[in-house]
Amino acid sequence: MIAQADTDVIERVIELRRAIHRRPELGFEEHETCALVERELDTLGIEHRRLVKTGVAGIVRGALPGRVVGLRADMDALPITERTGLPFASEIAGKMHACGHDAHTAMLLGAARVLAGMRERLHGTVVLIFQPAEEGPGGAEPMIAEGVLDDPAVEAIAMLHVDPRIAPGQIGITPGPVNASADELFITVRGKGGHGAYPHTSVDAIPAASAIVLGLQNIAARETDPLKSVVVTIGTISGGYRNNVIADEVQMTGTLRAHEPEIRDALEARVRRVVDGIAAAYQATAEVRIVKGYPPVVNDPLLAEGFAAYMHEHSRLDVERLPPTMGGEDFAYFAQRVPGLHIRLGIRSEAAGSTHSGHSPQFRIDEAALPVGVQTLVAFARAAGDGSLPIPASRHQV
Ligand SMILES: [Zn+2]
Ligand SMILES: [Zn+2]
Repeated sequence: MIAQADTDVIERVIELRRAIHRRPELGFEEHETCALVERELDTLGIEHRRLVKTGVAGIVRGALPGRVVGLRADMDALPITERTGLPFASEIAGKMHACGHDAHTAMLLGAARVLAGMRERLHGTVVLIFQPAEEGPGGAEPMIAEGVLDDPAVEAIAMLHVDPRIAPGQIGITPGPVNASADELFITVRGKGGHGAYPHTSVDAIPAASAIVLGLQNIAARETDPLKSVVVTIGTISGGYRNNVIADEVQMTGTLRAHEPEIRDALEARVRRVVDGIAAAYQATAEVRIVKGYPPVVNDPLLAEGFAAYMHEHSRLDVERLPPTMGGEDFAYFAQRVPGLHIRLGIRSEAAGSTHSGHSPQFRIDEAALPVGVQTLVAFARAAGDGSLPIPASRHQV
Protein backbone atom coordinates (compact mmCIF):
# COMPACT_ATOMS: atom_id res chain seq x y z
CA MET A 1 0.00 0.00 0.00
CA ILE A 2 1.34 3.45 -0.94
CA ALA A 3 1.24 5.53 2.24
CA GLN A 4 -0.10 9.06 2.44
CA ALA A 5 2.62 11.65 2.98
CA ASP A 6 3.49 12.48 6.61
CA THR A 7 1.86 15.45 8.31
CA ASP A 8 5.06 17.52 8.24
CA VAL A 9 5.32 17.03 4.45
CA ILE A 10 1.68 18.05 3.97
CA GLU A 11 2.07 21.12 6.18
CA ARG A 12 5.13 22.19 4.22
CA VAL A 13 3.32 21.69 0.89
CA ILE A 14 0.42 23.88 2.07
CA GLU A 15 2.84 26.55 3.28
CA LEU A 16 4.76 26.53 -0.03
CA ARG A 17 1.59 26.54 -2.10
CA ARG A 18 0.23 29.57 -0.28
CA ALA A 19 3.57 31.40 -0.55
CA ILE A 20 3.64 30.79 -4.31
CA HIS A 21 -0.05 31.72 -4.59
CA ARG A 22 0.58 35.13 -3.00
CA ARG A 23 3.30 36.00 -5.50
CA PRO A 24 2.09 34.89 -8.96
CA GLU A 25 4.50 35.39 -11.87
CA LEU A 26 3.79 35.14 -15.61
CA GLY A 27 5.63 32.95 -18.11
CA PHE A 28 9.44 33.31 -18.09
CA GLU A 29 9.20 35.82 -15.23
CA GLU A 30 9.06 33.13 -12.50
CA HIS A 31 12.13 34.54 -10.69
CA GLU A 32 10.78 34.40 -7.13
CA THR A 33 9.09 31.03 -7.67
CA CYS A 34 12.23 29.61 -9.20
CA ALA A 35 14.35 30.90 -6.28
CA LEU A 36 11.86 29.34 -3.82
CA VAL A 37 12.12 25.99 -5.62
CA GLU A 38 15.93 26.15 -5.55
CA ARG A 39 16.01 27.04 -1.82
CA GLU A 40 13.71 24.13 -1.02
CA LEU A 41 15.79 21.68 -3.10
CA ASP A 42 18.93 22.96 -1.33
CA THR A 43 17.28 22.33 2.05
CA LEU A 44 16.48 18.79 0.95
CA GLY A 45 20.03 18.21 -0.30
CA ILE A 46 18.81 17.65 -3.88
CA GLU A 47 21.16 18.63 -6.71
CA HIS A 48 19.63 20.94 -9.28
CA ARG A 49 20.37 23.04 -12.33
CA ARG A 50 18.76 26.00 -14.12
CA LEU A 51 17.39 25.69 -17.61
CA VAL A 52 15.75 28.24 -19.90
CA LYS A 53 16.13 31.23 -17.55
CA THR A 54 13.43 30.32 -15.01
CA GLY A 55 13.25 26.52 -15.25
CA VAL A 56 14.76 24.16 -12.70
CA ALA A 57 15.63 20.47 -12.86
CA GLY A 58 16.35 18.60 -9.63
CA ILE A 59 17.73 15.07 -9.51
CA VAL A 60 17.09 12.51 -6.77
CA ARG A 61 19.40 9.52 -7.21
CA GLY A 62 18.11 6.38 -5.53
CA ALA A 63 20.59 3.96 -3.95
CA LEU A 64 19.08 0.97 -5.80
CA PRO A 65 19.20 0.27 -9.53
CA GLY A 66 16.17 1.24 -11.61
CA ARG A 67 14.79 3.49 -14.32
CA VAL A 68 15.01 7.24 -14.79
CA VAL A 69 11.60 8.80 -14.18
CA GLY A 70 10.55 12.41 -14.83
CA LEU A 71 7.96 14.33 -12.81
CA ARG A 72 6.91 17.69 -14.21
CA ALA A 73 5.21 20.69 -12.60
CA ASP A 74 4.45 24.03 -14.23
CA MET A 75 5.09 27.24 -12.27
CA ASP A 76 3.51 30.18 -14.11
CA ALA A 77 0.39 32.23 -13.35
CA LEU A 78 -2.16 34.05 -15.52
CA PRO A 79 -2.84 37.73 -16.25
CA ILE A 80 -6.06 37.76 -14.19
CA THR A 81 -7.00 39.83 -11.12
CA GLU A 82 -7.90 37.44 -8.31
CA ARG A 83 -11.36 37.68 -6.76
CA THR A 84 -11.42 34.79 -4.28
CA GLY A 85 -11.06 36.81 -1.07
CA LEU A 86 -8.72 34.13 0.30
CA PRO A 87 -6.33 35.25 3.09
CA PHE A 88 -3.39 34.21 0.89
CA ALA A 89 -4.82 35.71 -2.32
CA SER A 90 -2.53 37.25 -4.93
CA GLU A 91 -0.72 40.37 -3.75
CA ILE A 92 -0.18 41.46 -7.35
CA ALA A 93 -3.02 43.11 -9.25
CA GLY A 94 -3.53 41.58 -12.68
CA LYS A 95 -1.73 38.32 -11.87
CA MET A 96 -3.19 35.18 -10.36
CA HIS A 97 -2.57 31.48 -9.99
CA ALA A 98 -5.92 30.61 -11.58
CA CYS A 99 -4.85 27.30 -13.13
CA GLY A 100 -3.42 25.61 -10.02
CA HIS A 101 0.23 25.74 -11.08
CA ASP A 102 1.07 26.98 -7.53
CA ALA A 103 -0.29 23.66 -6.24
CA HIS A 104 1.53 21.68 -8.95
CA THR A 105 4.87 23.23 -7.95
CA ALA A 106 4.25 22.77 -4.21
CA MET A 107 3.17 19.13 -4.66
CA LEU A 108 6.29 18.35 -6.69
CA LEU A 109 8.38 19.88 -3.89
CA GLY A 110 6.45 17.66 -1.44
CA ALA A 111 7.19 14.60 -3.57
CA ALA A 112 10.85 15.71 -3.68
CA ARG A 113 10.88 15.75 0.12
CA VAL A 114 9.40 12.24 0.35
CA LEU A 115 11.71 10.80 -2.33
CA ALA A 116 14.84 12.45 -0.85
CA GLY A 117 13.89 10.94 2.51
CA MET A 118 13.82 7.41 1.07
CA ARG A 119 16.93 7.52 -1.16
CA GLU A 120 18.35 4.37 0.45
CA ARG A 121 15.24 2.39 -0.54
CA LEU A 122 14.61 4.13 -3.86
CA HIS A 123 15.07 2.32 -7.18
CA GLY A 124 16.30 4.45 -10.07
CA THR A 125 16.57 8.19 -10.50
CA VAL A 126 13.87 10.85 -10.38
CA VAL A 127 14.21 14.04 -12.43
CA LEU A 128 12.07 16.83 -10.94
CA ILE A 129 11.15 19.25 -13.71
CA PHE A 130 9.90 22.70 -12.66
CA GLN A 131 8.78 24.28 -15.92
CA PRO A 132 8.10 27.94 -16.72
CA ALA A 133 5.54 29.45 -19.10
CA GLU A 134 3.01 26.67 -19.65
CA GLU A 135 0.27 29.26 -20.26
CA GLY A 136 2.44 30.66 -23.05
CA PRO A 137 4.67 31.06 -24.86
CA GLY A 138 5.66 27.56 -23.69
CA GLY A 139 8.53 26.37 -21.51
CA ALA A 140 8.45 22.63 -22.22
CA GLU A 141 9.96 22.79 -25.72
CA PRO A 142 12.97 24.96 -24.77
CA MET A 143 13.64 22.86 -21.64
CA ILE A 144 13.73 19.73 -23.81
CA ALA A 145 16.00 21.54 -26.30
CA GLU A 146 18.36 22.34 -23.41
CA GLY A 147 18.50 18.66 -22.54
CA VAL A 148 16.23 18.25 -19.51
CA LEU A 149 15.24 14.75 -20.73
CA ASP A 150 18.76 13.74 -21.77
CA ASP A 151 21.02 13.91 -18.73
CA PRO A 152 20.13 11.51 -17.21
CA ALA A 153 17.95 10.07 -20.00
CA VAL A 154 14.33 10.09 -18.79
CA GLU A 155 12.43 6.88 -19.67
CA ALA A 156 8.88 7.85 -18.59
CA ILE A 157 7.32 11.08 -17.35
CA ALA A 158 4.17 12.14 -15.47
CA MET A 159 2.45 15.37 -14.49
CA LEU A 160 -0.54 16.34 -12.39
CA HIS A 161 -3.18 18.93 -13.23
CA VAL A 162 -5.85 19.99 -10.77
CA ASP A 163 -9.35 19.34 -12.11
CA PRO A 164 -12.61 20.78 -10.74
CA ARG A 165 -14.67 17.99 -12.33
CA ILE A 166 -13.59 15.53 -9.63
CA ALA A 167 -13.20 15.68 -5.83
CA PRO A 168 -10.15 15.30 -3.56
CA GLY A 169 -9.34 11.60 -3.25
CA GLN A 170 -10.12 11.07 -6.91
CA ILE A 171 -7.58 11.04 -9.73
CA GLY A 172 -8.39 10.90 -13.43
CA ILE A 173 -6.46 8.84 -15.93
CA THR A 174 -7.24 8.92 -19.66
CA PRO A 175 -5.45 6.47 -21.94
CA GLY A 176 -4.59 8.04 -25.31
CA PRO A 177 -5.42 11.66 -26.23
CA VAL A 178 -6.21 13.75 -23.14
CA ASN A 179 -5.79 17.37 -24.34
CA ALA A 180 -6.21 18.88 -27.79
CA SER A 181 -3.89 20.72 -30.11
CA ALA A 182 -4.65 24.45 -30.35
CA ASP A 183 -3.64 26.18 -33.58
CA GLU A 184 -4.54 29.73 -34.55
CA LEU A 185 -6.20 30.49 -37.87
CA PHE A 186 -6.06 33.82 -39.77
CA ILE A 187 -7.94 34.32 -43.05
CA THR A 188 -8.01 37.40 -45.29
CA VAL A 189 -10.50 37.45 -48.16
CA ARG A 190 -9.84 40.03 -50.89
CA GLY A 191 -12.27 41.24 -53.58
CA LYS A 192 -12.65 44.52 -55.41
CA GLY A 193 -14.42 47.48 -53.77
CA GLY A 194 -17.07 49.60 -55.38
CA HIS A 195 -20.52 51.24 -55.13
CA GLY A 196 -23.15 49.22 -53.29
CA ALA A 197 -25.65 49.95 -56.06
CA TYR A 198 -23.47 48.38 -58.80
CA PRO A 199 -22.31 45.01 -57.42
CA HIS A 200 -21.60 43.63 -60.90
CA THR A 201 -18.68 46.06 -61.27
CA SER A 202 -17.03 44.81 -58.04
CA VAL A 203 -16.01 41.59 -56.30
CA ASP A 204 -17.77 41.53 -52.94
CA ALA A 205 -15.57 40.04 -50.18
CA ILE A 206 -18.51 39.68 -47.76
CA PRO A 207 -20.54 36.91 -49.49
CA ALA A 208 -17.24 35.12 -50.22
CA ALA A 209 -16.28 35.27 -46.53
CA SER A 210 -19.77 34.19 -45.47
CA ALA A 211 -19.61 31.15 -47.74
CA ILE A 212 -16.16 30.33 -46.38
CA VAL A 213 -17.44 30.37 -42.76
CA LEU A 214 -20.18 27.91 -43.70
CA GLY A 215 -17.90 25.82 -45.91
CA LEU A 216 -15.40 25.35 -43.09
CA GLN A 217 -18.08 23.68 -40.97
CA ASN A 218 -18.03 20.86 -43.49
CA ILE A 219 -14.58 19.80 -42.27
CA ALA A 220 -16.03 18.68 -38.93
CA ALA A 221 -19.44 17.68 -40.26
CA ARG A 222 -18.54 15.75 -43.41
CA GLU A 223 -14.78 15.22 -43.72
CA THR A 224 -13.84 13.89 -40.29
CA ASP A 225 -14.71 10.52 -38.79
CA PRO A 226 -17.67 11.33 -36.49
CA LEU A 227 -16.02 9.31 -33.71
CA LYS A 228 -12.96 11.61 -33.72
CA SER A 229 -12.74 15.10 -32.22
CA VAL A 230 -12.13 18.21 -34.25
CA VAL A 231 -13.08 21.86 -33.77
CA VAL A 232 -13.01 24.57 -36.45
CA THR A 233 -14.17 27.82 -34.88
CA ILE A 234 -14.23 31.23 -36.54
CA GLY A 235 -14.06 33.61 -33.59
CA THR A 236 -13.89 37.03 -35.27
CA ILE A 237 -14.96 38.50 -38.60
CA SER A 238 -14.54 42.07 -39.74
CA GLY A 239 -14.68 43.99 -43.00
CA GLY A 240 -16.40 46.71 -44.96
CA TYR A 241 -16.84 50.46 -44.60
CA ARG A 242 -20.52 51.49 -44.67
CA ASN A 243 -23.92 50.38 -45.86
CA ASN A 244 -23.57 51.42 -49.53
CA VAL A 245 -19.97 50.36 -50.19
CA ILE A 246 -18.90 46.93 -51.45
CA ALA A 247 -16.26 45.56 -49.10
CA ASP A 248 -12.91 44.85 -50.73
CA GLU A 249 -11.51 42.90 -47.76
CA VAL A 250 -12.72 40.72 -44.87
CA GLN A 251 -10.52 39.42 -42.08
CA MET A 252 -11.35 36.42 -39.91
CA THR A 253 -9.60 34.63 -37.05
CA GLY A 254 -10.30 31.26 -35.50
CA THR A 255 -9.00 28.25 -33.62
CA LEU A 256 -8.36 24.72 -34.88
CA ARG A 257 -8.37 21.89 -32.34
CA ALA A 258 -7.91 18.14 -32.56
CA HIS A 259 -6.97 15.22 -30.35
CA GLU A 260 -5.13 13.08 -32.83
CA PRO A 261 -1.96 14.18 -34.57
CA GLU A 262 -3.15 12.78 -37.95
CA ILE A 263 -6.38 14.78 -37.81
CA ARG A 264 -4.55 17.93 -36.75
CA ASP A 265 -2.01 17.53 -39.55
CA ALA A 266 -4.76 17.09 -42.13
CA LEU A 267 -6.60 20.24 -40.99
CA GLU A 268 -4.28 22.75 -42.61
CA ALA A 269 -4.69 21.33 -46.13
CA ARG A 270 -8.45 20.97 -45.65
CA VAL A 271 -8.84 24.58 -44.51
CA ARG A 272 -6.73 25.85 -47.42
CA ARG A 273 -8.69 23.82 -49.98
CA VAL A 274 -12.08 25.04 -48.69
CA VAL A 275 -10.97 28.68 -48.39
CA ASP A 276 -9.19 28.87 -51.76
CA GLY A 277 -11.91 26.96 -53.58
CA ILE A 278 -14.76 29.06 -52.26
CA ALA A 279 -12.86 32.33 -52.76
CA ALA A 280 -12.23 31.36 -56.39
CA ALA A 281 -15.90 30.47 -56.90
CA TYR A 282 -16.74 34.00 -55.77
CA GLN A 283 -13.99 35.56 -57.95
CA ALA A 284 -12.16 36.63 -54.79
CA THR A 285 -8.77 35.63 -53.47
CA ALA A 286 -7.89 34.51 -49.96
CA GLU A 287 -4.85 34.20 -47.79
CA VAL A 288 -4.68 31.60 -45.00
CA ARG A 289 -2.17 31.70 -42.16
CA ILE A 290 -2.05 29.00 -39.49
CA VAL A 291 0.12 29.51 -36.41
CA LYS A 292 0.87 26.20 -34.73
CA GLY A 293 0.23 26.05 -31.00
CA TYR A 294 0.79 23.12 -28.64
CA PRO A 295 0.30 19.63 -30.07
CA PRO A 296 -2.30 17.31 -28.48
CA VAL A 297 -1.26 15.57 -25.26
CA VAL A 298 -1.38 11.82 -25.88
CA ASN A 299 -1.08 9.67 -22.78
CA ASP A 300 0.82 6.49 -23.43
CA PRO A 301 -1.96 3.84 -23.29
CA LEU A 302 0.23 1.17 -21.65
CA LEU A 303 1.52 3.56 -19.04
CA ALA A 304 -2.00 4.92 -18.37
CA GLU A 305 -3.62 1.49 -18.02
CA GLY A 306 -0.66 0.23 -16.00
CA PHE A 307 -0.66 3.12 -13.55
CA ALA A 308 -4.46 3.03 -13.14
CA ALA A 309 -4.26 -0.67 -12.27
CA TYR A 310 -1.30 -0.03 -9.95
CA MET A 311 -3.18 2.69 -8.04
CA HIS A 312 -6.30 0.51 -7.80
CA GLU A 313 -4.19 -2.14 -6.18
CA HIS A 314 -1.81 -0.09 -4.05
CA SER A 315 -3.81 2.97 -2.92
CA ARG A 316 -7.22 3.83 -1.55
CA LEU A 317 -7.71 6.53 -4.17
CA ASP A 318 -10.66 6.50 -6.50
CA VAL A 319 -9.16 6.21 -10.00
CA GLU A 320 -11.56 7.61 -12.60
CA ARG A 321 -11.38 7.18 -16.33
CA LEU A 322 -12.07 10.76 -17.41
CA PRO A 323 -12.95 11.84 -20.94
CA PRO A 324 -10.40 14.05 -22.73
CA THR A 325 -10.94 17.83 -23.07
CA MET A 326 -10.30 20.24 -25.96
CA GLY A 327 -7.97 22.36 -23.76
CA GLY A 328 -4.24 22.59 -24.48
CA GLU A 329 -1.10 21.70 -22.44
CA ASP A 330 2.55 21.91 -23.45
CA PHE A 331 3.30 18.70 -21.53
CA ALA A 332 2.51 17.40 -25.04
CA TYR A 333 6.17 17.95 -26.00
CA PHE A 334 7.43 15.78 -23.13
CA ALA A 335 4.93 13.05 -24.02
CA GLN A 336 6.09 13.17 -27.65
CA ARG A 337 9.65 12.42 -26.58
CA VAL A 338 9.10 9.75 -23.89
CA PRO A 339 6.07 7.74 -22.73
CA GLY A 340 4.06 10.32 -20.77
CA LEU A 341 1.08 10.45 -18.45
CA HIS A 342 -1.08 13.49 -17.68
CA ILE A 343 -2.93 12.70 -14.44
CA ARG A 344 -5.89 14.79 -13.32
CA LEU A 345 -6.17 15.57 -9.62
CA GLY A 346 -9.62 16.10 -8.08
CA ILE A 347 -10.12 19.44 -6.27
CA ARG A 348 -13.88 19.94 -6.44
CA SER A 349 -15.61 20.74 -3.17
CA GLU A 350 -18.73 22.82 -2.47
CA ALA A 351 -17.50 23.44 1.10
CA ALA A 352 -14.12 24.77 -0.05
CA GLY A 353 -15.74 26.80 -2.85
CA SER A 354 -13.56 25.00 -5.38
CA THR A 355 -16.15 24.58 -8.10
CA HIS A 356 -14.95 27.23 -10.59
CA SER A 357 -13.17 26.30 -13.76
CA GLY A 358 -9.51 27.06 -14.30
CA HIS A 359 -8.75 30.60 -15.59
CA SER A 360 -11.65 32.04 -13.56
CA PRO A 361 -10.87 34.92 -11.14
CA GLN A 362 -12.77 32.88 -8.53
CA PHE A 363 -10.76 29.72 -9.11
CA ARG A 364 -9.87 27.87 -5.89
CA ILE A 365 -8.60 24.48 -4.97
CA ASP A 366 -9.51 22.29 -2.01
CA GLU A 367 -6.17 21.81 -0.23
CA ALA A 368 -7.30 18.30 0.79
CA ALA A 369 -6.14 17.42 -2.74
CA LEU A 370 -2.50 18.32 -2.01
CA PRO A 371 -1.55 15.14 -0.07
CA VAL A 372 -3.29 13.06 -2.75
CA GLY A 373 -1.16 14.74 -5.38
CA VAL A 374 2.07 14.14 -3.45
CA GLN A 375 1.11 10.50 -2.91
CA THR A 376 0.32 10.07 -6.62
CA LEU A 377 3.60 11.61 -7.82
CA VAL A 378 5.62 9.50 -5.38
CA ALA A 379 3.70 6.37 -6.41
CA PHE A 380 4.43 7.02 -10.10
CA ALA A 381 8.13 7.64 -9.47
CA ARG A 382 8.45 4.46 -7.39
CA ALA A 383 6.38 2.19 -9.64
CA ALA A 384 8.08 3.37 -12.84
CA GLY A 385 11.48 3.37 -11.14
CA ASP A 386 11.41 -0.17 -9.77
CA GLY A 387 9.84 -1.73 -12.86
CA SER A 388 6.35 -2.35 -11.39
CA LEU A 389 4.98 -0.30 -14.31
CA PRO A 390 5.54 -1.50 -17.86
CA ILE A 391 7.37 1.27 -19.71
CA PRO A 392 7.17 1.13 -23.51
CA ALA A 393 10.31 2.00 -25.45
CA SER A 394 10.87 5.74 -25.87
CA ARG A 395 9.47 7.25 -29.01
CA HIS A 396 11.97 10.06 -29.49
CA GLN A 397 10.07 11.76 -32.31
CA VAL A 398 12.24 14.65 -33.39
ZN1 LIG B 1 -4.22 27.09 -17.67
ZN1 LIG C 1 -2.72 24.67 -16.24
